[in-house]
Amino acid sequence: MSKRHIIIGGGPAATNACETIRQFESDSEITLICNEPAHSRMALPYWLSGQIPREQTHTGDDDYFNRLNVKPMIGVTVAGIDASGKSVSLSDGTSLSFDTLLLATGSAPIGLPMPGSDLPGVQTLWTLADTEKALAAVDGHAKPRVTLVGAGFIGCIVLNAMFKRGWDLTVVERDQHMLPRMLNADAAQYVHRWVTDRGIKLHCGTRLQEITAADDGAKTLKLDNGKSVTADLVIIATGVGPNIQLAVDAGIETDNGILVDKTMQTSVPGIYAAGDVAQGPAMLETERQVHAIQPTAVDHGRVAGANMAGQSTQYNGSLLMNVLDVCGLQCASFGKWEDSAADAMTMSNENSSIYRNLLWTDDKITGAIFVGRANDLGMLTDVGMVKGFIQTQTAVGSWKEYLRENPFDVRRAFIATKVPETLAKTTLLGRPAVSRGFHFGNPPNKHTASSSHGVYVNTKEPT
Ligand SMILES: Cc1cc2nc3c(=O)[nH]c(=O)nc-3n(C[C@H](O)[C@H](O)[C@H](O)COP(=O)(O)OP(=O)(O)OC[C@H]3O[C@@H](n4cnc5c(N)ncnc54)[C@H](O)[C@@H]3O)c2cc1C
Repeated sequence: MSKRHIIIGGGPAATNACETIRQFESDSEITLICNEPAHSRMALPYWLSGQIPREQTHTGDDDYFNRLNVKPMIGVTVAGIDASGKSVSLSDGTSLSFDTLLLATGSAPIGLPMPGSDLPGVQTLWTLADTEKALAAVDGHAKPRVTLVGAGFIGCIVLNAMFKRGWDLTVVERDQHMLPRMLNADAAQYVHRWVTDRGIKLHCGTRLQEITAADDGAKTLKLDNGKSVTADLVIIATGVGPNIQLAVDAGIETDNGILVDKTMQTSVPGIYAAGDVAQGPAMLETERQVHAIQPTAVDHGRVAGANMAGQSTQYNGSLLMNVLDVCGLQCASFGKWEDSAADAMTMSNENSSIYRNLLWTDDKITGAIFVGRANDLGMLTDVGMVKGFIQTQTAVGSWKEYLRENPFDVRRAFIATKVPETLAKTTLLGRPAVSRGFHFGNPPNKHTASSSHGVYVNTKEPT
């Protein structure tokens, strides 16, 4: 009998695991079970902003699953796992056996239980259904009043999408500043100035106390600074937590997330976890971490898939990184961005909305914060190069002092210290990646990368 893999989930961790298993095995059985259609949550803001239709958030259709020879069970929930008996029970009362199992169940919003949080038009923005509900809630309003509660990474991504719509926006953040888990207070001041200059009303350092129904379906939000806000739609973005309950019930070791080793295997042999739900190896850290971001989900899914297919692949660890556009202002932070023991090189220019902080441990960059205009190409390329320094942990020697003297000439140090070569030789699975082979609407393959380039990259068709 051929090997049976079961994958729970339909996000990037799950689909990347399917694709990777198929790179190594053609004859095994793969069943993907997900209670939602396979899609990318990070594409939801583009649907919300009106830039793409709903269908373009999808990351796999019947053709895709047929091509990969994967059996999709969409709209089905896994209710339980029998870890020793190697089977999963489904919401319809049936069960399926496996040889290897992947938990790629993602995370879910923690919400904000309080009076009025169950009113219509008060919601999170995490799923396809949430996005549909938010669009319906503002339907018919020429300029809907929307309040975002929680100005973290996901909240600000949603804010950006709503800003593109031209909605009337208010932000409530209980911390003293926006993006408290990715920017320091100085960097956040640039964001505050930027958003308020663009008409967004900002209430930081205050908590939402209650929500009450107001006229015409509107809601009144009472804040503990004595102010109140009226909104047609309230988006609660107060954080997410990993969906670990299935693992807990099955006796699989968990902490904040499901604990995995370098192969993405859990405490139970043959059972793997990947993506937002997994707490795994992390770069620059000794403890395992949950990094609930898309790049980590992709890496995890690929490493788990390779090992489920019998390879012996070890993951170096995910890098903490957050990169986002807040209404035209790019914000990024990497690694140990708030390490007070590090040697910090800070540069800023209020008039140009530029803030940068490079954090050094000896002659290696171990953390960074960037704020700068989206149309500043130098800023965008520098962000990528600094990420490269951190990922490769290159000891730059005397180039450290060069960067202190010439903070905007990152490229010279990047090339001189051979970071591009190190990056190009680094592959997740020890071989070049292949194209994922799914593009919305199945456009013809126009891949034209040169052979020399293709050795290292060979991944992407131009769209
Ligand atoms: C609005 C928004 C914007 C974002 N933007 C970014 C961004 O710009 N950059 C970035 O890095 N990250 C972003 N993220 C985060 C990113 O989308 C997640 O890190 C990523 O989706 C995690 O992938 P995953 O495969 O682990 O889980 P998910 O994508 O959450 O997929 C898990 C799936 O499993 C399903 N599932 C759970 N339990 C069961 C069960 N028992 N049975 C069946 N199915 C189950 C879930 O319903 C879900 O469909 C964003 C997230 C949101 C919501």
